[in-house]
Amino acid sequence: MKRIGAHVSAGGGVENAPLNALSIGATAFAMFTKNQRQWKARPLTPESIEAFRENLEQAEIESRFVLPHDSYLINLAHPEAEGLKKSRDAFLDEMMRCEQLGLELLNFHPGSHLGKATEDESLAIVAESINCALESTSAVTAVIENTAGQGTNLGYRFEHLAAIIDRVEDKKRVGVCLDTCHTFTAGYDLRTMEACDRTFGEFAEIVGFEYLRGVHLNDSKPELGARVDRHESLGKGKLGWEVFRYIMNDNRFEEIPMVLETVDDSLWPEEIRQLYALQEQSARS
Ligand SMILES: [Zn+2]
Ligand SMILES: [Zn+2]
Repeated sequence: MKRIGAHVSAGGGVENAPLNALSIGATAFAMFTKNQRQWKARPLTPESIEAFRENLEQAEIESRFVLPHDSYLINLAHPEAEGLKKSRDAFLDEMMRCEQLGLELLNFHPGSHLGKATEDESLAIVAESINCALESTSAVTAVIENTAGQGTNLGYRFEHLAAIIDRVEDKKRVGVCLDTCHTFTAGYDLRTMEACDRTFGEFAEIVGFEYLRGVHLNDSKPELGARVDRHESLGKGKLGWEVFRYIMNDNRFEEIPMVLETVDDSLWPEEIRQLYALQEQSARS
């Protein structure tokens, strides 16, 4: 079945995230396991970890449908040694927090070359960063998100994702998350069924759906190919509903967390209902 939710607040403690997901009728969710705008975080307490697990059970959401997102400060492609080390240390800490919570995925943006290295060089650095993190952990999969390609961000071409995966040693613990807004503003059309066929066909060929571990469901404020990252509520942006109808009726998107990062959180319960309503009878299970 399709697992739909949103990036919910973990304010007041990670243990609140599953309850926030439950309150909007979600069957999956994303969250931060620490303040996403700070480098350092206090370790998770045993009480908080225990409460998180209990609340996850209460929400009846399996741990494999939780897609934590790392801090925005981390740049696993950092072109300078000091910045790279800081990012790798912080990323490893995030991986370990996920493991402590019994979670299986960690979603992150590949990073930026900051104009100081080529894309190819930088993609190799990202892969090495992932290898380092996977060596020091055992259970969490590194989930690379495609980006809009704003500024010097990497990851706006499916080839970038493939190039990173290619250099990761443990292929079982690397995956990707497709963001519909990022895909579109990076230049891949998704506005019609035919465009979705083409774009997802290209993804299948270059990356492969076996690596798809999550989806971010966002409409887009900017136009196709604008290379700017601005999310919009579903149906209110330049994408429209077709891509969401396509995803909800395509079995390549089964049993993975698909989460809203749309701008108006008061609409999330309705957006989740609208998404499920797009499913044709034959696709429901
Ligand atoms: Zn996203
Ligand atoms: Zn975004």
